[in-house]
Amino acid sequence: MRQIHVVEDEKGVRELLVRYLEHEGYRVFPHADGEGLLAAIAQQGADLIVLDIMLPGLDGLELCKRIRAKHQTPIIFVSARSEEFDRILGIELGGDDYLVKPFSPRELLARIRAIFRRIEQQVAEQGTANHLDLTLDFAARIARVGTLTLELTNKEFELLKFLLENKGRAFTREQLLTAVWGYSYLGDSRSVDDLVRRIRKKLDGVSQVEVATVWGYGYRVNA
Ligand code: CA
Repeated sequence: MRQIHVVEDEKGVRELLVRYLEHEGYRVFPHADGEGLLAAIAQQGADLIVLDIMLPGLDGLELCKRIRAKHQTPIIFVSARSEEFDRILGIELGGDDYLVKPFSPRELLARIRAIFRRIEQQVAEQGTANHLDLTLDFAARIARVGTLTLELTNKEFELLKFLLENKGRAFTREQLLTAVWGYSYLGDSRSVDDLVRRIRKKLDGVSQVEVATVWGYGYRVNA
């Protein structure tokens, strides 16, 4: 049974999510603050974490940083603030998805299922994608240029992999969102711009591979 940790200081919201996710067949561990979460995942691990950003004590972003130092567990941020800052920072810190309150438990469930589906696909994946001087290793989930290893977050890896596997083709932001997040994304296509900006920063001056902007359309890796 998949284990999901829900960190939420609002009791009503927490209990609602726990009930809903348990009903969907997950084992759910509720936490009112970050200390409880860190202790619990150190002891028993986690398959996924639903993480409120505004929390007493350590906030969700700080918690994400600490979790990412040791674990690649998928994290879905939830926040009452729709601010750009939180969304970008959340993704930058390695969050896998971002929901703005109020959201329906059903929407959260869709995101959770998409992440688990993606993980199952990733586990089944073998091999590499090569382009120019860049190699993506699917099993290790890293990029290499010669002897150099590029650290990519999960989403950066997915986007680059998709563009390399379809090199020479241009995609809209919406298509890339669906490809990377694994469901038809209702949210913000600027998430793709954020990802591309970060991928470019990592490739720049290191690899010959470039993510090109297709004006008025989207992005492409040239064949
Ligand atoms: Ca809160």
